[in-house]
Amino acid sequence: MSPYHKIMNGFKRLLGQTPEIPHSESRLPSEESISHPPRIISRNEHCISRQHINKNAVRVLYRLKDARFQAFLVGGGVRDMLLGIIPKDFDIATDATPEEISDLFRNCRLIGRRFRLAHVHFGEEIIEVATFRARHESHFQPDDDIENHVDQDRVFKNGRLVRDNIYGTFEEDAWRRDFTINALYYNIYDFSVVDFTGGVEDLNARLIRLIGDPLQRYQEDPVRMLRAIRFAAKLDFTIHPETAASIYDMGRLLKDIPSARLYEEVLKLFLSGHGWKSFELLEQYKLLFYLFPRFEKNLAQAKPLIEIVLKNTDERKQQHLTVSPVFLFAALLWTAVEESAKTLEKEQDINFFEALHEAAHEVSHQQHKRVAIPRRIVLGMKEIWMTQSRLEQAWKSKKALVLVNQPRFRAAFDFLTLRAKINPDLKEMVDFWETLFLAAPTERIQLLNPPPLPQPEAAPKRKKRRRNYFKKKTTATIN
Ligand code: ATP
Ligand code: MG
Repeated sequence: MSPYHKIMNGFKRLLGQTPEIPHSESRLPSEESISHPPRIISRNEHCISRQHINKNAVRVLYRLKDARFQAFLVGGGVRDMLLGIIPKDFDIATDATPEEISDLFRNCRLIGRRFRLAHVHFGEEIIEVATFRARHESHFQPDDDIENHVDQDRVFKNGRLVRDNIYGTFEEDAWRRDFTINALYYNIYDFSVVDFTGGVEDLNARLIRLIGDPLQRYQEDPVRMLRAIRFAAKLDFTIHPETAASIYDMGRLLKDIPSARLYEEVLKLFLSGHGWKSFELLEQYKLLFYLFPRFEKNLAQAKPLIEIVLKNTDERKQQHLTVSPVFLFAALLWTAVEESAKTLEKEQDINFFEALHEAAHEVSHQQHKRVAIPRRIVLGMKEIWMTQSRLEQAWKSKKALVLVNQPRFRAAFDFLTLRAKINPDLKEMVDFWETLFLAAPTERIQLLNPPPLPQPEAAPKRKKRRRNYFKKKTTATIN
């Protein structure tokens, strides 16, 4: 863009007008750039209406269109709307470069190293705008080392794509996406859906199918295996046999994925409302141990609690209640912590509380190497674990009054309640804490220190006994 246009566009933006791209530079979809004609599903053949699309996403699409860039809604937004599901987010693809996008939107930030993207901010909401990317093979020369190819914009390490900032055409962008159902484009110019890869057919057949050769696509990015599982769980789709078979061969590649990225993926797998189904599929495809190495030893013992917690999380999500990563990780790792604490207690001749403290540290440290759980989540998780021991020690005693008032109480109590569902021995304790928690402050003191029963003068009449959790300790310890 010429300096003249840049200055004029700056003025226009100040006046709240849409900046202009000079006509000679405009890049409307051109037929020459397309080698493989896509299937076009026209507006009257599909169910997507602009009313269903997030208003800010529509604004971004129109701003790009007015500036004569290609502009499409793509990915989960299109897929979910075609299935009649409310999309989680709306992604936009365009032929404008990140810098050009940034020139168009005052509220835009460029982010990412691995993928350079534009984030257009509307208050709390962010619309992600990505520039079309090229197909991977297209950039290689025949004698290139495909395993370790490095140039400024695209970097492969051991066949893994660790940076991808080579821009391409609309068609190329479709073929570099992960699954056919994620490569459907809604065109803001004529409201049609554009399908290069057979996504509509797979959507109708309820199939998750990788675009291209599964082994190569997993090698480029092993996280695609976790994505296949997430979409199969979310949509209740089948993973296509070839896409599925390669997962068994390639699962080990997850070991090389940065632990911070795996943390994000684990959250999406377990906290999106289909956590239990995702867990079962991860187990079925033998991927669970790469994320949670401890399960190799104790999956059978850990599973009942995890099932209860994940099903509970899924229900909460359906009811639009909050779900917590602290609670999730506390549940995933509790069995390992408890078992390790029991062993340490015996081996080191320390009390259970100390053993639990040590075990909590050991288990979370080991887990962190694979899935980088942030520090604040680890702290919350440890608090839930340590408070389990306090809840077990303090019930029926005066200390209960202090504990029930502490901010940490609620999460730890909820966790104890879920544990009680698989361990009936904990049921009485849960009832105690619930009664105490729900009681008014004065009632709480009475519950822990009930007035002495009137002493019978004559022969005692048989009285109905009051419910009293503190039969032994109250008389001994509380005045
Ligand atoms: P949802 O947002 O509902 O979780 P989504 O399909 O939109 O699902 P995103 O992570 O938002 O998933 O990604 C947007 C789109 O970007 C995807 O639909 C897909 O086309 C593409 N994409 C994302 N991750 C990859 C990947 N690892 N490899 C190839 N394409 C990807
Ligand atoms: Mg998305």
